[in-house]
Amino acid sequence: MYKKQKVKGVDVNTANVKNVVIVGGGSAGWITASLLTRVLGKVLNITLVESEQIGTVGVGEATIPPIINFNNALGLSEQEFLKATKGTIKLGIEFENWKQQGDSYMHAFGGIGKDFPFCDFYHYWLKYQKICQENNIKPADFWDFSLNYQSAKSNKFAKIRNIEGTTLPGLTYAYHFDANLYAQLLRKYSEGQGVKRIEGKINQVHLNQGNGFVESVELEDGNKIAGDLFIDCTGQAALLIEKTLNTGYVDWSHWLPCDKAIAVPCENVAPISPYTRSIAHDAGWQWRIPLQHRIGNGIVYSSKHMTDKQAKELLLANIDGKPLAEPKVIPFRTGRRLKQWNKNVVSIGLSSGFLEPLESTSIHLIQSAATRLIKTFPHQGIDDVTVDEFNRQSVTEIERIRDFIILHYKINQRDDSPFWQQCQRMDIPQTLQRKLDLYKKTGQLFREQDDLFTEIAWQQVLIGQGMLPEDHHAVADQLSEEQLIDLMKNLKILMNNTVEKMPSHDEFLQQFN
Ligand code: FAD
Repeated sequence: MYKKQKVKGVDVNTANVKNVVIVGGGSAGWITASLLTRVLGKVLNITLVESEQIGTVGVGEATIPPIINFNNALGLSEQEFLKATKGTIKLGIEFENWKQQGDSYMHAFGGIGKDFPFCDFYHYWLKYQKICQENNIKPADFWDFSLNYQSAKSNKFAKIRNIEGTTLPGLTYAYHFDANLYAQLLRKYSEGQGVKRIEGKINQVHLNQGNGFVESVELEDGNKIAGDLFIDCTGQAALLIEKTLNTGYVDWSHWLPCDKAIAVPCENVAPISPYTRSIAHDAGWQWRIPLQHRIGNGIVYSSKHMTDKQAKELLLANIDGKPLAEPKVIPFRTGRRLKQWNKNVVSIGLSSGFLEPLESTSIHLIQSAATRLIKTFPHQGIDDVTVDEFNRQSVTEIERIRDFIILHYKINQRDDSPFWQQCQRMDIPQTLQRKLDLYKKTGQLFREQDDLFTEIAWQQVLIGQGMLPEDHHAVADQLSEEQLIDLMKNLKILMNNTVEKMPSHDEFLQQFN
């Protein structure tokens, strides 16, 4: 099928890429299919193979704000999406017991305070803290200046672009939803746009004897599906990228020691809160994600420190309503595939690696990989430079997210369990250490190009877990003490007044019942 030639020193498989086969129909498969057909549907033949008998992992309910752009790119209305997926609004993630037992803070989406040139509001807040301490005044909390936090904790939501009468941004949000229903919605969408779906279990993969590319996949009934480019969305099975191409895996479990999860949905309780909860336990943490019709719960834990039985009991003892299904144990291995794209196979979703759902990043990584594939699409044949660039960008993206997740574990102050103490003592990646060293000394955090998480996201985890820097930026000293105190007072009033006028999140959701 492929002829290989050298073009200016670059290996090129000259066959045009026209026939794309997506293997697997979980969230990864249908998200990829929907974007590919939307953007390249007229020039590609797209086939998706999935096996109902094998099924999907069936978890994954919380997202981050870029999902809104993804849905917009498909032309999916928010109304249709929230109705179909039983979705709710997510304004942030509350972290409980992460610093110490009994403490809590939020990673609230969006801005905090007000934008200043040259340095973040955060430096003004640090300076303001010092002034308050010197003058024996109780300072306002950092989150008093977060509209997202204030709305989340008041169970309120409205779609506001700007705070009335100001240029300050309104609410930044994402969704909680049923990922199975999302996959079904995207299946309908993709099939409607011409994606061909084939039901069946693949039991053989055929390789080209010359270049080792995948030529076709064969179903149990003997049906062979050939393609130019294969997208491995087979989840943890990693059927093409690993079982067939033996690509290899970079293991990160020495930095992220949790290796199992148990998920269980339960009955809903009112009100439906517009934020995720992440509650740290002795050897891991528990999520609580409210949807319209139920609450998604789960525990992520280290099997070296907690048995499945202990984890299950702990989880069931800490849910709000009656369980709606048998708790399901899901083992995982944190890390990334050595090459996300190898030969003519691109792995997307769980087949490409796994980061625990602490910051709800997996569905985002799927959408981002599908977008990257389109940007680098090899319509005139697969060449090494394109594959290398795709892989380079993918590694940068996931490693930066990994560092942010490790941060939560590393800077805990808990002394009540061996698990948390081990996390405090562990070595961390150099990239994270460099970031923390600069922050501790100067309070500075720099978001590099394509970093998913903003400086404000990092600030919230750092402050929330008790790591304050030695200094603030000199620009904050430009304001007098009175100006600074006035600024904080006025901003706080503005936030409070805005939240007061908002309808409740439950009222917002009523339109989807
Ligand atoms: P799967 O859902 O496992 O789909 C695999 C597909 O491949 C299926 O269709 C299966 O039938 C098919 N398949 C496999 N083998 C074959 C074969 N031989 N022949 C034919 N078909 C085959 N992400 C978030 O963004 N937010 C969250 O809150 C979140 N929470 C999570 C909690 C847990 C505990 C876990 C484990 C993950 C979580 N995720 C979350 C991640 C998210 O669930 C996954 O990234 C997402 O569902 C993608 O899964 P997938 O499509 O790659 O794999």
